[in-house]
Amino acid sequence: MRAVVYRGPRQVEVTEVPDARIQEPTDAVVRITTTNICGSDLHMYEGRTSVEEGKVLGHENMGVVEEVGPAVTRIKVGDRVSVPFNIACGTCRNCLQGWTSFCTRTNPTDGVDGAAYGYANMGPYDGGQAEYLRVPFAAVNLLELPAGTEHENDFTMLSDIFPTGWHGTVLAGLQPGDDVAVYGAGPVGLMAAHSAMIRGAARVFVVDKEPDRLALAAQIGAVPVDFSRGDPVEQVLDATQGRGTDCGVEAVGYQAHDHSGEEHPELVLDNLVKTVRTTGGIGVVGVYVPEDPGAQDEGAQQGRIGFDYGTFFTKGQQMGTGQAPVMRYNRQLRDLIVAGRATPSFIVSHELGLDEAVHGYDQFDKRVDGWTKVLLRPGQ
Ligand code: NAD
Ligand code: ZN
Ligand code: ZN
Repeated sequence: MRAVVYRGPRQVEVTEVPDARIQEPTDAVVRITTTNICGSDLHMYEGRTSVEEGKVLGHENMGVVEEVGPAVTRIKVGDRVSVPFNIACGTCRNCLQGWTSFCTRTNPTDGVDGAAYGYANMGPYDGGQAEYLRVPFAAVNLLELPAGTEHENDFTMLSDIFPTGWHGTVLAGLQPGDDVAVYGAGPVGLMAAHSAMIRGAARVFVVDKEPDRLALAAQIGAVPVDFSRGDPVEQVLDATQGRGTDCGVEAVGYQAHDHSGEEHPELVLDNLVKTVRTTGGIGVVGVYVPEDPGAQDEGAQQGRIGFDYGTFFTKGQQMGTGQAPVMRYNRQLRDLIVAGRATPSFIVSHELGLDEAVHGYDQFDKRVDGWTKVLLRPGQ
């Protein structure tokens, strides 16, 4: 089958790999209809991780069930499904508590709980930027979608970034009527803003410096805050009579940079601590990683970073972190899409064939104007 494989820093290749196949009785194989390029793929693409050469990338997958193992119940061949990026067993203590993003069983790496498709340090699983994908514990993980092709570009956000953005607002403790600050207007930040509005936020401030992304934030009714035009903290404090927002979402990660482009991994956490009022909550879904001795890019910022914990403590703020447990939200978000109450497809900028993935990665990584969210269609 054709698949996108990692070759080295800023090098991916679309090539032939062995077909995905059933390996355990609880597996299914899904024929991929849509698979997305994510900001999380860029950590590997930019050489910031120790992901192995030859790994098939892609953790934002949906498609149609092609084959099921003999022990798969509930899901059957022909079902249209969304595949959460987390690979969960469904029965370990974290899964039973709804923390499928920290499954203790599916990642064989010592000391790491939580597995994902096509990802560094998240287990030996190939990704779905390919014609077919092997899905472990299929009856646990797969979410059924209405048959047909309707809402494809909305449903494709259910595997990761819509639940992730939603989770950011949950971790932040967002209540109806709250003002919220979202740092980052990438796909994840825009999904957090969309979620905050659906969950009843009063005002949503979205901080970034990319004009096209800020324009999308404005398009959905959020207040764009351009940090290249001045301190974003001051801009939000000015708009809230000095009080700050009730809560905030971090949707940037350790690759945060200042207006000149220099990386400062602590910058957004520092800004959030200043932007959010005393006792307010901060949801961190932007990724921070422990030191990875195998990372190819020695300049990558990892592990220990120093943000202003003193102010965070003094303001009595709360902070929640981590990879999102997609299954906790994806059924509800699917039904909001079906009911017309959520339209996460507003961020889609490009729909490419799988063979155009090399170009898609390059343009998305460079944040070329207008390249907000790239979908790949293996069937085209
Ligand atoms: P992206 O790289 O497309 O977007 C990041 C945005 O942050 C960019 O638009 C950039 O201009 C902006 N930015 C950079 N520095 C900033 C600053 N100082 N202040 C405000 N904005 C700034 O990535 P994405 O796809 O939107 O993903 C964002 C983060 O979320 C990544 O770290 C990704 O790995 C992570 N992520 C986490 C989960 C999870 O489950 N927790 C899931 C998916 C993605
Ligand atoms: Zn993703
Ligand atoms: Zn588990």
